[in-house]
Amino acid sequence: MSADHDDEVAVVGAGLSGCLLAAFLARRGYPVTLYERRPDPRTGRVDRGRSINLALSERGLDALRRIGLDARVMAEALPMRGRMIHPVDGEPQFQAYSAAGDRAINSISRGALNNALLTEAAALPGVQVAFDHRLVDLDPGTGEMIFETPQGKVTATAPVVLGADGAGSAVRGQLLGHGLLRESLDFLDYGYKELTIPPMGGSFALDPEALHIWPRGTSMMIALPNPDRSFTCTLFWPTHGTASFASLGSPAAIERHFAQHYPDLLPLAPNLVDEYLHNPVGVLGTVRCDSWQVNGTVGLLGDAAHAIVPFYGQGANCAFEDVVELDRCLDECADDWSAALPRYQHRRQGNAEAIAQMALANFVEMRDRVASPLFQLSRRVEHTLERALPGRYVSRYELVSFSTTPYAEVRRRVRYQHQVLGAVVGGAAALLAGAVGAALRRRRRG
Ligand code: FAD
Repeated sequence: MSADHDDEVAVVGAGLSGCLLAAFLARRGYPVTLYERRPDPRTGRVDRGRSINLALSERGLDALRRIGLDARVMAEALPMRGRMIHPVDGEPQFQAYSAAGDRAINSISRGALNNALLTEAAALPGVQVAFDHRLVDLDPGTGEMIFETPQGKVTATAPVVLGADGAGSAVRGQLLGHGLLRESLDFLDYGYKELTIPPMGGSFALDPEALHIWPRGTSMMIALPNPDRSFTCTLFWPTHGTASFASLGSPAAIERHFAQHYPDLLPLAPNLVDEYLHNPVGVLGTVRCDSWQVNGTVGLLGDAAHAIVPFYGQGANCAFEDVVELDRCLDECADDWSAALPRYQHRRQGNAEAIAQMALANFVEMRDRVASPLFQLSRRVEHTLERALPGRYVSRYELVSFSTTPYAEVRRRVRYQHQVLGAVVGGAAALLAGAVGAALRRRRRG
């Protein structure tokens, strides 16, 4: 599979997908330069309120396994076997993710994951990393790039340029500016803010084997555990309006709000007011574009091609799948980029759209439905079916988080399962109604 190539590949963005991509390409024998607008993250510190811990699941792990990085990454991850639902009143309730209760998604800090990938990529022969290089211009015809650096503008050229530069991608912006693609950006009227639950007496303040959810209908908070025994909470709330981030201005109002809606959180989060007042509100949205590649020489992947809302915990997992698929396409096309990039786009675009839609739908489930007794009953029925029909009935959550079944296939399969289930339940109901009717008629006759 690996061959030596003379043609350099420029990867713009040394985030999660850029570093993984550089590692995959270097293993194929490509000289790769990773250009990153920020300084080396391994020497810097994380911006306040932007730590983000991710749920890493099977798709991401599958990619890491392929380069032998899974064990190193998992050493810093904490398994979460289910959701812990925190009602306003009463005890939290645990809902296992899988039928047997044994499968887990993994909480990991985005920074730690990024650093592990960067260290792996930078150590491979042929990989160079240029930090403090912000792409500001790209000629898609020649591959000439202009970067802003602390020393001034720098020009570089590469026959293949890959944009892994995140949701606000400059590479995508350049292609847009040259009229080579169309994009749509759908922002939610919700934003997010990070808060912290520190360790209590040296231990986790909540069960560390669960992803904690406070579903509140129009708002929601989640908390994921960290190896230092703290939890990073993320509050999702409208950015504007009477009940929104903008509506709480004073420490007293913040405390009142949390005492009313998140009463069990208040005693666990001593820095809540300070964090609420000073941590930024992040934006959430879906990015779509019709072309992920141009002329087989410029390509997009990860959030640059298809940023999604975080409610299925799949953005990074999906970005890692892009890298695996591009590598597969290069294999199949004997490293002919002009064939591999269109093939990669063809295979991934429908899948990215499917997870974008499932992620939006999961927001409603997480902030609202998880708390309802009907939802909890339906999850129990689903798990019973999974146990009764192993491999034949598999829940959407299981297929998304614990398999590498393509996302578009997950949607088709779940739709089909629901149709069959609907028909079976409908048929059973009709049979039951018929039997009851017949019994009533017999009774009347008798
Ligand atoms: P990024 O990680 O954004 O990396 C882009 C890189 O490009 C950065 O290093 C940036 O500095 C660099 N860059 C940008 N512009 C330029 C430029 N002009 N020149 C050079 N470099 C540039 N995903 C999951 O899988 N599971 C989760 O549980 C999850 N939770 C999330 C929670 C929140 C609150 C958010 C916001 C996201 C979450 N995600 C999750 C999504 C995940 O963080 C992203 O999908 C993932 O980081 C995308 O990786 P990427 O490499 O495409 O982009």
